[in-house]
Amino acid sequence: MTVEPAARPVPAYPGRPLFVANDIYRHSSYGGAHPLAIPRVSATVDLARALGWLDGGCYWSTAPATRAEIARFHDPAYIAALERAERDQALPEDMAARHNLGRFGNPFFPEMFRRPATSAGAVLTAADVLLASDPAAHGGRVVVYSPPGGTHHARHDRANGFCYFNDPVLGMLRLLDGGMARLLYIDLDAHHCDGVEAAFHGDPRVLMISTHEERRWPFTGAGTERAGGSARNLPVPRGFNDSELDAIVDEVVVPLGRVFAPDAVVVQSGADALADDPLSRLELSNGALWRAVAAASALAPRVLVVGGGGYNPWSVARAWAGVWGTLNGRHPPSRLPEEAETVLRGLMWQRAAGRNPPAHWFTTLADAPRPGPVRDEVKLAIEAVLA
Ligand SMILES: [Zn+2]
Repeated sequence: MTVEPAARPVPAYPGRPLFVANDIYRHSSYGGAHPLAIPRVSATVDLARALGWLDGGCYWSTAPATRAEIARFHDPAYIAALERAERDQALPEDMAARHNLGRFGNPFFPEMFRRPATSAGAVLTAADVLLASDPAAHGGRVVVYSPPGGTHHARHDRANGFCYFNDPVLGMLRLLDGGMARLLYIDLDAHHCDGVEAAFHGDPRVLMISTHEERRWPFTGAGTERAGGSARNLPVPRGFNDSELDAIVDEVVVPLGRVFAPDAVVVQSGADALADDPLSRLELSNGALWRAVAAASALAPRVLVVGGGGYNPWSVARAWAGVWGTLNGRHPPSRLPEEAETVLRGLMWQRAAGRNPPAHWFTTLADAPRPGPVRDEVKLAIEAVLA
């Protein structure tokens, strides 16, 4: 099967990793006290640029996905409801309830249709670039990074967990429709990827591997849950450390990924499993996230890395700028240059921890490593998915 030509402009692969985003994230907020009332993508772009890692030739500003493209996964009635909600900033009660809008962390806000449509556009653009590129012509691998993407909770007909459209699902469907026979999906977010797992339940073309905090919302993703053979779930305990993620990558992600031999790998690099994040009790340093992204990216000739959760503006910007550096083989300086520090000093966070941030949130990219024992719970989770 071949896909329809993209409805958006799609760039040629620049011969090195491509960064796809948009300026809508610079001015859009979920509002009020919502965890997503912080800059994330714009701060990542500014920080990467200040480090000299993002010249014009490797940055692409995406157009939004079209309604028809979004309807490849989402219910047209839901898409229409979201457009109406953006226009009216309200919905009739029955419609709001049916689509889970204006409640449970999915607020009405001014760009509530355009923003997720742009994230979907970014991921679809990334998928189109990967489909149009020949990895053999680029040293064996083509890589696209789209930190606006990663909204892994959204469902076919409703918003869920701050996610309105499921851009990972849309991107993966695009890759499959475009001829990719096997897709590996690696999810490093603190929360289980319930929306992605539901979309590809029982699909033999897809293997989804997720690490996430046990007993945390959405309370899916038990070690025994395999989504009809398509998923391997590793719920991990509070205090999850760098050595434990390294063990999962070495013993599960890499060997299962090699056996699966995917045509493309999609990596969700949510930053909410980091110790500095307020929404989980996991305690990774960003270096562990970068190592996991690097290992996952080596598993296929086509690589799509998206963002995800992450609710401390400094730790998200530093983590995701570092993901981009990792994909480009760059090593962060031990002390950030002044221009990069200025970007970080310009961020605001309306939480107690944001009033007096520690100095290293401004002066470094890499966190101090957080190694530790690989605890029995993690060893058992590894054994369970390999059984
Ligand atoms: Zn999350």
